[in-house]
Amino acid sequence: MSVDTGLARMSADLFVNGSWTTGRAGRLDNVDPGNGRTIGAVSLAGADQVAEAITAAEVAFAAWSARPAVGRGDILRCAARLLADRTEEAAATILLETGKTEADARGEIDRAVETLRWNGEQAGRVQATMFPGVVAGSRRTSIPTSLGPVAVITAWNFPAVLATRKLGAALAAGCTVVFKASEFAPATARLVVEVLVDAGLPAGVLNLVFGDPQAVSEQLTSSSSIKALSFTGSTAVGKALAAQAAPNLIRTVMELGGHAPVLVMDDADVDHVIATTAAAKFGSAGQSCVAPSRYFVHESLYQEFVDKLTAKAETYILGHGTEEGVTLGAVAHQGRLDALVRLARDAADHGAVITTGGKQAARDGFYLEPTVVAGLPLDSKAMILSEEPFGPIATVSSFSTLDEAIDAANAAPYSFAAYLFTNSMNMRDEVVRRLNASNIGINQLAPSLPDVPLGGLGNSGYGYEGGIEGILAFTQLRLVSETAG
Ligand code: NAD
Repeated sequence: MSVDTGLARMSADLFVNGSWTTGRAGRLDNVDPGNGRTIGAVSLAGADQVAEAITAAEVAFAAWSARPAVGRGDILRCAARLLADRTEEAAATILLETGKTEADARGEIDRAVETLRWNGEQAGRVQATMFPGVVAGSRRTSIPTSLGPVAVITAWNFPAVLATRKLGAALAAGCTVVFKASEFAPATARLVVEVLVDAGLPAGVLNLVFGDPQAVSEQLTSSSSIKALSFTGSTAVGKALAAQAAPNLIRTVMELGGHAPVLVMDDADVDHVIATTAAAKFGSAGQSCVAPSRYFVHESLYQEFVDKLTAKAETYILGHGTEEGVTLGAVAHQGRLDALVRLARDAADHGAVITTGGKQAARDGFYLEPTVVAGLPLDSKAMILSEEPFGPIATVSSFSTLDEAIDAANAAPYSFAAYLFTNSMNMRDEVVRRLNASNIGINQLAPSLPDVPLGGLGNSGYGYEGGIEGILAFTQLRLVSETAG
């Protein structure tokens, strides 16, 4: 079934205090990465409009946080149904503004629906904990209470899932929100806000702004009304935002970059490794924080692995998501594409063999040919081994001992997803203990589903999203110690 792009509305305004409104700081083009054409525009907020959004969130907080949690959850579950009803429109919107394939766009909407529903179901299950008192007739209770108005800033690469993960948890916890979505995927953010509003969210509870990212974030983090900032994006911007939030002691959750290693041990089945991981390597054109990006393969399997991964990469059909049979989409913009080509060239300069790809595809839009970079020594200084590539490009290097493989995997300055393929139970335990990684897939991928907490380590960030922990991130535990009067 192909998407009907005629359903998609590709522009986005601001949503402030219950009204859609045009930004007073101008507009930016919304560009389809799949062909480079302008498909809409995003409205940019003036400082006064960001201030209005903060005030609206502050005013709405008392009533929203006082509403029974089950009632807040009802709105989230209703929004999940409305988003499911609008799957065709939502998939078309994502496809057009992110360059994804139809399968990736549809898959994302399914996950976003599930995320809203799960948070809606959990809203009424956030529990207090009672402890015995220290004197007769007394008790102590630790009660999670809504934190306050919060800021949410998201990346463009999974515009529906990232929004629903953060908004679902914050709204379930009783927080009100100023949401600064990515200017690279504004229409999807608009649609997520629309379904929440249509589901009955009161005015002021959720406000959507776009604008100059640095200026907007500075305004949010310097406001005494904002009690937390939940951010998903690159490590560099995350570090800057954490520093910005620090003077006001604004709590932060940082979901940042990744550069996932894949350890392929000598007892692994090469076909299984490639069949399993290729979906994550080339899905969303590799623009995922959990995308496998550095394969470390036991020397006994190395050549077979390089040959088969190269052959697999060459099976991908690159093109616009509306074209029949396309299995690999575009990258976000020309800047990303240039960075990827630069990484491939630098790897070749460091002695790598580019077994396939390495170039911009000869067509309109921002496409990198699926690329395999083979043979970099484990201690190579090639940039691609330390910089998050965020594209359809993978390195393959060979190792001989487990220590070498773990050291090489841990050498990149990220600690998020990692993968291990082996049948050895002992090896699994050792690798889980020694890898700098917080999300480890063993003989399978490591998806971020709504029911489990997940967060980074080191340069990949801190704090958790998903699970009850993701909702608790938007609460304050209040301790009540009481004795009968
Ligand atoms: P980005 O850091 O460029 O942008 C993320 C958000 O920050 C956007 O809303 C953007 O407008 C804003 N922003 C950009 N520059 C800013 C500045 N100077 N000050 C304040 N805000 C600013 O990232 P991106 O290109 O949108 O997304 C890709 C990155 O996100 C990758 O590094 C990827 O690994 C990461 N990511 C992480 C996760 C996770 O769960 N850990 C999930 C998805 C994406």
